[in-house]
Amino acid sequence: MQHIRDAILSGNATPDDYANIEIPDHYVGAVLRKEDEQMFEGLSTKDRDPRKSLRVESVPLPELGPGEALVAVMASSINYNTVWSSIFEPVSTFSFLRRYGKISPLAKRHDLPYHVLGSDLSGVVLRTGPGVHAWKPGQEVVAHCASVELESPLGHNDTMLDPEQRIWGFETNFGGLAQVALVKANQLLDKPKHLTWEEAASPGLVNSTAYRQLVSRNGAGMKQGDVVLIWGASGGLGSYATQMALNGGAIPVCIVSSPAKADIVRSMGAELIIDRSAEGYRFWKDESTQDPKEWQRFGKRIRELTGGDDPDIVFEHPGRETFGASVYVTRKGGTIVTCASTSGFMHEYDNRYLWMSLKRIIGSHFANYREAWEANRLIQRGYVHPTLSKAYPLAETGQAAYEVHRNMHQGKVGVLCLSPEEGLGVTDPELRAKHESAINRFRDI
Ligand code: NAP
Repeated sequence: MQHIRDAILSGNATPDDYANIEIPDHYVGAVLRKEDEQMFEGLSTKDRDPRKSLRVESVPLPELGPGEALVAVMASSINYNTVWSSIFEPVSTFSFLRRYGKISPLAKRHDLPYHVLGSDLSGVVLRTGPGVHAWKPGQEVVAHCASVELESPLGHNDTMLDPEQRIWGFETNFGGLAQVALVKANQLLDKPKHLTWEEAASPGLVNSTAYRQLVSRNGAGMKQGDVVLIWGASGGLGSYATQMALNGGAIPVCIVSSPAKADIVRSMGAELIIDRSAEGYRFWKDESTQDPKEWQRFGKRIRELTGGDDPDIVFEHPGRETFGASVYVTRKGGTIVTCASTSGFMHEYDNRYLWMSLKRIIGSHFANYREAWEANRLIQRGYVHPTLSKAYPLAETGQAAYEVHRNMHQGKVGVLCLSPEEGLGVTDPELRAKHESAINRFRDI
């Protein structure tokens, strides 16, 4: 892969050079192996260690199909789905691949005894398959992770409704935590020119998800002046939701779990912050009983900060642990918008607070191509910034995933794939200079 890396780093390889560049028949990626599927049997979620299951090894290059592109990956990032895959929860990743493999001969390529993970990338297009006209070898790109077949009418209003919609690198193979990735060409987006490879690879999945969940009419449709309660406001999703709330004239109430995380969201411009650890909320008295008095104490604190307002929108993803409180504190007629259940997916809430107060719960999942493009445009124009706190080499993907699993990280954790070091890939230094401090905000912690 050295010659591909050299071509990219030289900055002067032409589209023809890329179109003719030799692509080795094997490449290195962060993979899970089918034979490890049972390795955490009997262990609790927190004791399952991604460092034990994630291997970094050589695998064969997949065959390029119609509508697809092979991309030389300069950098990728850890998403929480990398954690789920690597601890084989809530279901084994190989059941996703098996199911996908059944739908077509092209999809069958993904059903292998190994799974190359990763749902983000920045890099350079190497080859495109038949039927791809909008993208050419040599183009610098990022990729969003919605993989769709679009053979059913059901997905043509909103591609996330395609019955065969999957998350690339999570429910499909050949993901971005590797030297080369296989994507559908309709996952490609232009790389933001003012960002390094590792910065450009970090927002994709979470930025697009937060955009649909909070801003899009398919999600909460946030508007100016809305009070938005954001769980995990310095984390992957939350750090983008916070920026969108501030950008969009809303009033974020940021929930974090340490003074350091409070400082980060404060530096982003948030003023209303709750440190859930310092406040010591215990929404559950025991495993099966919630404590409405704690919901009330939480709601009272929110009102103290907002001057009496309840949240118009609650940006939910912790799930079981917080969902009862989230439904309770939302204002009459307000919206709870959820995209995940990190602490457990069997939610419990008091339905009286939902129906009597005419609240709505909206489910949201990733983003369609248009939403991902709109979210990427915010990054490209410097309205929303990456929240990368550190980057690991590909060989240490397991450690990177471990830190996200243990909530030891801030913002996003990046992974260098072909890029030999951090700091490379900026082609618009002027725009960068304008936003340098905001881009580096999560680095200084
Ligand atoms: P992340 O970087 O780990 O951030 C999540 C933050 O939530 C944590 O940093 C933590 O912040 C807070 N949190 C975690 N457990 C909590 C709990 N029990 N109670 C309250 N707060 C808690 O992860 P992420 O990338 O934001 O992803 C969060 C979840 O969304 C994951 O389950 C992920 O799989 C899911 N997700 C879904 C989609 C989708 O398309 N459906 C897309 C992206 C992510 P503090 O400790 O500071 O409070």
